[in-house]
Amino acid sequence: MRPKIGEILIYDAVIVGAGAAGLFSAINLRAKSVLIVEKNALAGRKILASGGGRCNITNANLSVKNYLGDENFISQILRRLSVDELLSVFAPLEFSLEKNAQYFCKNHSRAVLQKLLSMAQKTCEIRTNCEICEISKSGEIFNLFSIKGEKFCAKNIIIATGGPSFRALGASDSALSFAESFGIKCEKFRPALVGLCVQKSEFWFKNLSGVSLGVRAKLAGREIAGEALFTHRGISGPAILNASLFWRSGKITLNCAPNHNMQSLEKTLNGGKKQLSSLPFLPKRFVLEFLRSQNLQDKIFSKYSPAELEKIARIFSYEFAPAGTFGFEKAEISAGGVCTDELGADCESRKIPGLYFAGECIDASGMLGGYNLHFAFASALCVARAINSKLSARNLAKFG
Ligand SMILES: Cc1cc2nc3c(=O)[nH]c(=O)nc-3n(C[C@H](O)[C@H](O)[C@H](O)COP(=O)(O)OP(=O)(O)OC[C@H]3O[C@@H](n4cnc5c(N)ncnc54)[C@H](O)[C@@H]3O)c2cc1C
Repeated sequence: MRPKIGEILIYDAVIVGAGAAGLFSAINLRAKSVLIVEKNALAGRKILASGGGRCNITNANLSVKNYLGDENFISQILRRLSVDELLSVFAPLEFSLEKNAQYFCKNHSRAVLQKLLSMAQKTCEIRTNCEICEISKSGEIFNLFSIKGEKFCAKNIIIATGGPSFRALGASDSALSFAESFGIKCEKFRPALVGLCVQKSEFWFKNLSGVSLGVRAKLAGREIAGEALFTHRGISGPAILNASLFWRSGKITLNCAPNHNMQSLEKTLNGGKKQLSSLPFLPKRFVLEFLRSQNLQDKIFSKYSPAELEKIARIFSYEFAPAGTFGFEKAEISAGGVCTDELGADCESRKIPGLYFAGECIDASGMLGGYNLHFAFASALCVARAINSKLSARNLAKFG
């Protein structure tokens, strides 16, 4: 007989949120009674949208260097789940190793979600359309309340509610209100892996909407290489999305032709005898807008004065201070979350035993490339293993 309070079943574990972290913790739990509650009608909507529908599940170059957050905490989480172990969980699904060491599902991301759901349904109950709005603890038992007035009781709780980016997919900042209600410190969520809006001085970026360039962005002691894409709101593309993870305020320096310098530029222009806009490695539209932004004309390179050449050299180190980000609606992830110094190595709250956090709601965020799903899975595995060993220790004590 499962323990009950009055007529309410006490679950070994209730998982709040059926995304990557919630479902992965469910399939790794070896408990008798596990419930997942999910506010959406469908579980795992972000998994479906991931990787443009192809689910970039992990990265062959998995490293703590690709994350923002406490390095010790993140590396102890990543150590629990290697890339090969993760891929093997999804067998027989196949993944292809592509550009930037990214692993994509050869089928649609729907196949990844179906695999997780079919494994989770074997071991636990999933309740959709169930949004939890309050969690409290009395004695050893947690009480969860849904917005519809349902009550659930559990010995352990896993908060896997993600962050508030892409609200259309069911995202929420519930994790922070649950954590804060228990006195657990959190870092406010902020949009990350997101495009950047520009100030008036860079409104010329907007005239380049649709143009992309290979750039190197420098900020906060990091250099990030990749494509930048100019848009009608500012600047986006993989290099900028990654830069947004580390940007809080202040300037970003863009090298718009990272494999060149003023000498190679002159050489490429036939010893300076050609017009600047004829450079083969920069889109003509970019060169013309850049020149306009610097109040310069397009002309034969050797005709520029030293002062004008100084301005042209800004192609290699263009400094700009973004006005902000495109916001949560466009952000692939939310940086911030539950502070990692509040959590043990198994993601259990140091203050509230039995309260665990997994996935994006933890203040540890990855760059583009499969790092966020990998962290969601690895943190979920840590939590599941910790609860398994706690429950088996209890059973041994009971029967031993
Ligand atoms: C468009 C898009 C594409 C992406 N592509 C990739 C990619 O290819 N590779 C990669 O690594 N990362 C990618 N990411 C990021 C990645 O999807 C997330 O970091 C990851 O899914 C986080 O998993 P999670 O389980 O922590 O949170 P989520 O996936 O957000 O799951 C949280 C779940 O909790 C539910 N929930 C929230 N509040 C409550 C509540 N109060 N009660 C009950 N349920 C609640 C939500 O409805 C949701 O289902 C992408 C993100 C987006 C938006």
